[in-house]
Amino acid sequence: MDSRFQAMESLLLNSKYFKLVCGAGNEDADEVRKLAFIYTLAGAKGMDVSANTGVVKACSEGIDMAFGKASEFGLDLEIRPFIMVSVGMPGDHHVRKSIIHLGSCVKCNLCIPVCPTNAIPDNLIVIDDKCIGCGNCSAVCPEKNAITYRHNAKELGDILPECLNAGAEQIELHAAIADDETIMEEWALVNAINANGHNSMCLDRLHLSNFAFEERVRKAKEIAGNRLIIQSDGYPMSGGQNDFNTTLQAIATADVLNKAFNMKIRKSNNTLIYKREIIVKQLLSGGTNSLTANLAEQSNVKWQGVSLGTFARNIIKEELATPNFFDSDGAVTTALDKASKLVRANIGAPPK
Ligand code: SF4
Ligand code: SF4
Repeated sequence: MDSRFQAMESLLLNSKYFKLVCGAGNEDADEVRKLAFIYTLAGAKGMDVSANTGVVKACSEGIDMAFGKASEFGLDLEIRPFIMVSVGMPGDHHVRKSIIHLGSCVKCNLCIPVCPTNAIPDNLIVIDDKCIGCGNCSAVCPEKNAITYRHNAKELGDILPECLNAGAEQIELHAAIADDETIMEEWALVNAINANGHNSMCLDRLHLSNFAFEERVRKAKEIAGNRLIIQSDGYPMSGGQNDFNTTLQAIATADVLNKAFNMKIRKSNNTLIYKREIIVKQLLSGGTNSLTANLAEQSNVKWQGVSLGTFARNIIKEELATPNFFDSDGAVTTALDKASKLVRANIGAPPK
């Protein structure tokens, strides 16, 4: 077992893994570089980025910059964050891009302010690199046919080895669609391409019953073995608010997984208890915020890591938009303070 694999295992088994999700569809390299810089300093141990070599390199640069500047902030960054690249099945919303059809659009501009990534400019031509497929625009659009989506197709066999060469160490497959057989073919390919590192399957229950969810995890485990991570995606891309209700489904989905794999009945008093060994390692996701770990603990739901996307990006959005961000001490310090509080709220203080 190589030392990076062991380091990742240790983070997961101690629930110390915080993953910053830059967005599977986010191909804005400048933003990814800034996010990686701030969240590496803040103590994140994973960066989830689009499967795009330019984005992987930008993420790696952001991490390098953070390591270069850590001592200025009195920080000792022990473990370099793992870069995970995200790919998705056609139909999974994490990897779709929005298109506004100007012929059907009534120019009401309702979609512009609800876009979390400023991907819709005044001319209503969506900036492809910035769109993360969240669906906020079509949710408010009064015209049925004005907004559609296309799958951001990637040839996995071509793009994934290039991403690994560019610095990625892990792959995540977004697999929240109904077709089991195709998913498992892609999953086998992902695991063949990254044969020695951890790979994650991101699943939600929007299209799957609890039974189908469990079956898919079981099949994924058969292929990936102890390299498997399941990202239990409570309510995909819903992490805008900082309240318990927003993070509830993330905990509920993790609970379904635990009861299927990581818990057993204690016969003496007929109660459910955790097994000594974690059979399926999972990340809480989908509606995660600063209260996620808190709610999981209150609910006695064990987890190995936390993935934060929308909420983590939103809290430092304003600072990241500062001109010459990297040279702006005020913006960097403020962003770092906010990001550090969020990381600590989920994985506690870093080890001394
Ligand atoms: S609201 Fe979401 S789906 Fe629509 S353009 Fe913005 S990022 Fe893309
Ligand atoms: S909300 Fe729909 S109709 Fe209104 S500007 Fe956006 S795309 Fe056009």
